Amino acid sequence: MNSQSLFYIIIAIIIIDFIVEKLIDRLNAKHFNDPIPADLHDVYDENDYKKSQAYKATKYRFGLLTSTFSIVLTLGFLIFDGFEFVDNIARNFSENPIVVALIFFGIIMLGSDIVSTPFAYYNTFVIETRFGFNKTTKVIFWMDKVKGLLMMAVVGGILALIIWFYGISGSHFWLYAWGIVTAFTVFLNLFYARLIVPVFNKQTPLAAGSLREKISDYAQSVGFHIDKIFVIDGSKRSTKANAYFSGFGSEKRITLYDTLVNDLAEEEIVAVLAHEVGHYKKHHVIFNLVASILLTGLTLYILSLFISNPLLSQAIGVEIPSFHVGLVAFGLLYAPISEITGFVMNHFSRKFEYQADAYAKKTYAASPLISSLKKLSKNSLSNLTPHPAYVWAHYSHPTLLQRIQQLKKTF
Ligand SMILES: [Zn+2]
Repeated sequence: MNSQSLFYIIIAIIIIDFIVEKLIDRLNAKHFNDPIPADLHDVYDENDYKKSQAYKATKYRFGLLTSTFSIVLTLGFLIFDGFEFVDNIARNFSENPIVVALIFFGIIMLGSDIVSTPFAYYNTFVIETRFGFNKTTKVIFWMDKVKGLLMMAVVGGILALIIWFYGISGSHFWLYAWGIVTAFTVFLNLFYARLIVPVFNKQTPLAAGSLREKISDYAQSVGFHIDKIFVIDGSKRSTKANAYFSGFGSEKRITLYDTLVNDLAEEEIVAVLAHEVGHYKKHHVIFNLVASILLTGLTLYILSLFISNPLLSQAIGVEIPSFHVGLVAFGLLYAPISEITGFVMNHFSRKFEYQADAYAKKTYAASPLISSLKKLSKNSLSNLTPHPAYVWAHYSHPTLLQRIQQLKKTF
C-alpha cells in the first residue's frame, strides 16, 4: 500500500457514500406522494397535507444542493492539497505539535463554518420561515453561531490533551484518551441540562397546576421519583415541539418544550412523559451511554494502530506526518465503519422507542400517546410515507404508522 492508492481509496469512499446516500434520498422522494395509510388519515387536513408535500419537496431539493456543494468542495480540497496548505499555515506560527494542531483544526472548522453558514441562513430564514416554523431572529441566529464556536474551544482543549498524551505515551495514548473522553461524556450526560442548555435557552420549572399534578400522580403510580420537570423556551427558535429526558441518578430531569405544552392536551403531555419515563425504566439511557463509551474505546484503539504510520498524512497530501493530519485521514477512512455502527445504533434506538411506547401504554394509556404523536407529526409537517430503506438508514424512531399500529395492537 502506498500513499497514492490510499488517496484513491479515500476519494472512492467519499464518492460511493455520496452516491448511496443520494440513491436512498431519491427512493424516499419517489414515495412522497404515496397514498396515506388508513391509520393516519386524520393527521392532516387537505390544506396541511399540501403544505407537507411542498415542505418535503423543498427540503429534498435543498438537501441535494447542499450535499452536492459539500462533496465538490471536499473533493476539491483533497485534490488540490488543501490540508497541506492549511498545515503549512499552522506551521508558520509554531513548532509545538499541540499549537499546530489547534491552529490547523481552527482554520478548517472556521472555514467550513463560513462556507456552510449561508446555507444554514437560507434554511432558517427562507425555507423554515416560508413554512411557518421559524421564530429565530437574526440576532439569535448569529449569537448561536458565536456560542457554538466558543463551545468548540472545549473540544479543542480535549484534543490538546489527547495530543499531549500521544507525545508522552505513544501508541498507549488511546487508553488515556478514552479515559478523558469517557469522563467528558459522563459529565456532559449529567450536567448537559445545567451547563449547556442555559447557554442557548431559558428553562423554568413547570409551574404548579393541574398539569404538574397529573404528572406527579403518574410518576407516583410508577414509583418514579422526579422533581425536576422543566419547560424550555423552544418557541424562541421554532414552532416545532419536543420533549426529552436527560441525566441520571439525582441529576435526572425531564424537559418539555413550551411549544409542546401549548400544543398538546394535558393527558397527551403525560403520555409523552410516560414514554420518556419508559426510556429510563428500561435502562435505555444507561445503555446508550455505555454503548457510546465502548464504541469510542474501540475507535480510539483502532486509531492507535494506524496513527503513527506516516502513510496516513501522506495519503491526503501532507508531507510532514503528524497526529492531527493522521486523524483527519483516519476519519475519512473510518467513515464506512462509523456509518455501520450508526446503523446499528439506530436499529437499537428504534427498538427502544417501541419499548418506551409499550411502557407508556401499560402504565398510562395508548390513545393520548397516539393523538400526541399525530399532533407532533402534523406540527412538524412530517413525512407519513417514508421509504423503508430511508427509515433503516436514518430514522432513530420507527415511523408514525409503525408506532401507532404497534400501540393499537392488543396483547
Ligand atoms: Zn423515545
